[in-house]
Order: sequence, then structure tokens, then C-alpha cells
Amino acid sequence: MCIICIDLAKGVLTGKDARRHLGEMRGKLGAHASEVQAKIEEAEQVPPAAPSTAKP
Ligand SMILES: [Zn+2]
Repeated sequence: MCIICIDLAKGVLTGKDARRHLGEMRGKLGAHASEVQAKIEEAEQVPPAAPSTAKP
């Protein structure tokens, strides 16, 4: 668990911002970087507050 995970869990970090943070922190995160990457991808697959009937 790191600041990126915490902010993703809170929903205050977008996937794009999280990726930028990950790039900056990758060296410090070590093996945890791959977990963060997975969390970012998960967060990007589920957009917040997406209407269920938003098909054009
Ligand atoms: Zn973390």
C-alpha cells in the first residue's frame, strides 16, 4: 500500500495521474509497482459515475 493505492481507493486520482505518479515512484515502489499498475488498470476499466444507459 502506497499513496497511489490510497488515492485510487479514495477516487481522487485519475488513471492518467496515477500512471504519472507511478512513473515517478516506480524506483521506490520496487515489486509493488506491478500491483499499482494492476490497480490503475482496474480503476480505468470502471469509470466513476458512468450512467448504465449511456449508449448512443
Ligand atoms: Zn500501493
